[in-house]
Amino acid sequence: MTLADACWPEVPEGGLVLVPIGSTEQHGPHLPLDVDTVVAVAVARGLAPALGGLVAPAVAFGASGEHQDFPGTVSIGTPALTTVLVELGRSLTTWAGRVVLVNGHGGNHEAVSASVRQLQAEGRDVAWVPCAPDPCCGAGLDAHAGRVETSVMLHLDPARVRLDLAEAGVTHPLAEVLPVLRAEGVREVAPNGVLGDPHGATSDEGARLLDQMVARALQRLGAGMRS
Ligand SMILES: [Zn+2]
Repeated sequence: MTLADACWPEVPEGGLVLVPIGSTEQHGPHLPLDVDTVVAVAVARGLAPALGGLVAPAVAFGASGEHQDFPGTVSIGTPALTTVLVELGRSLTTWAGRVVLVNGHGGNHEAVSASVRQLQAEGRDVAWVPCAPDPCCGAGLDAHAGRVETSVMLHLDPARVRLDLAEAGVTHPLAEVLPVLRAEGVREVAPNGVLGDPHGATSDEGARLLDQMVARALQRLGAGMRS
């Protein structure tokens, strides 16, 4: 059951709530703007049965300043997102025993980890996990709208993937492009918005990658890593 579907008497006092944290940002010419939100929701739903938790409505706007040069991107930035997440955590923990933020966008990292630290310092049981598959050996840059995200979307929502428009972006090692990316934004290093190459993406690979994301998140939660 999701939190949005529940009537209040059905919500268990002291239970666990998973909150997907996504973004609304460009994902190349072939993927929709809500990829990170879709992935975060899918990972949260994958975790819910194992953890016995409810999945809350997703936070669909994040810190996406590096993508702001592309039309469609909507970013609230790190300070505002941090405030939102702290207040969500405070409100949720008035009745939830534990809150897990499931982060689908790397650019949210600073806000997610800072808000979790703050909430933990206030004595609340709050943790976070990324949506990260197993590290893949030999693969080139695949940071954004590349093979991983395209595969996962082909698995989750194939009707919204425009494979005919998929094309490679910048594939140099991330360390090489990161300084310009940070200073000038993604458009400066990858005019089509893709950091990686969606070529070879398949639905089967997406299913495997999603399983890995859920398994790694479970492992991380089991290991008690919270910040
Ligand atoms: Zn993404």
